[in-house]
Amino acid sequence: MIIPKTSEEIELMRQSALLVSKTLGMIATEIKEGVTTLELDKKAEEFIRDNGGIPGFLGLYGCPSTLLTSVNEQVVHGLPTNRPIEDGDVVSVDCGVLMNEFYGDHAYTFEIGNVAPETKKLLKVTKESLYIGIREFKAGNRVEDVGNAIQKYTESFGYGVVRELVGHGLGKKMHEGPEMPNYGKRGRGKLFIEGMVVAIEPMINMGTKNIKTLKDNWTIVTADKKPSAHFEHNVALVNGKPELLSTFQYIYDVLGIKSEEENEFRKNPLVL
Ligand code: MG
Ligand code: MG
Repeated sequence: MIIPKTSEEIELMRQSALLVSKTLGMIATEIKEGVTTLELDKKAEEFIRDNGGIPGFLGLYGCPSTLLTSVNEQVVHGLPTNRPIEDGDVVSVDCGVLMNEFYGDHAYTFEIGNVAPETKKLLKVTKESLYIGIREFKAGNRVEDVGNAIQKYTESFGYGVVRELVGHGLGKKMHEGPEMPNYGKRGRGKLFIEGMVVAIEPMINMGTKNIKTLKDNWTIVTADKKPSAHFEHNVALVNGKPELLSTFQYIYDVLGIKSEEENEFRKNPLVL
């Protein structure tokens, strides 16, 4: 079921989303070769609690951690471990927060040291596809318009779009309707309605779209062991247009990344 939010509720959701953004910014200062994802997980939990939030994933469906950290061929839902992060790794860090009764949920894939050029390209294209998809989240469009745009763009590079895992509506529950697949046909699915908030999150594989679940019953990996990328934003439909509630700017500030994607999007959310 789609549950539209009032403008007051959207402001609360912005605060939840921004606490996740700030947490990912803190992670950007800590994530490096030799650090374990379990260490990052502990720091994230402390940071969220110190800032008045509750870790949103911890305990949800039995999740044992604050972060989900998916390294290299891991797609999503990677459980933090004692394995030190290595030079050349790519690490998707997905984080949820519950604050003022509303969830925030977003993710960024970090590059550690010298990442292979073809993997860098996978990350770049996946992040671009996130904004391409978000621009289709507008009045008059339907759920699969977003997925179609993401699929068309990423498949043009020969990448695989994961089918089994999808984005979702967001609110007082981490997962509300509608499901937001990263694939689909134009003009299909539920009509978008004013005030709805969604998590749009392309999960894109360098090779096959097929995935497997590891024995921990959480971690999802690519079937061919090739790398995967994951970027996620929270977006509200306001005055018929997509409005970003989360931001990667805290990460960019720490890493010295010059990216105009978000600025250009905020200036002109409907035009590519
Ligand atoms: Mg997430
Ligand atoms: Mg999500």
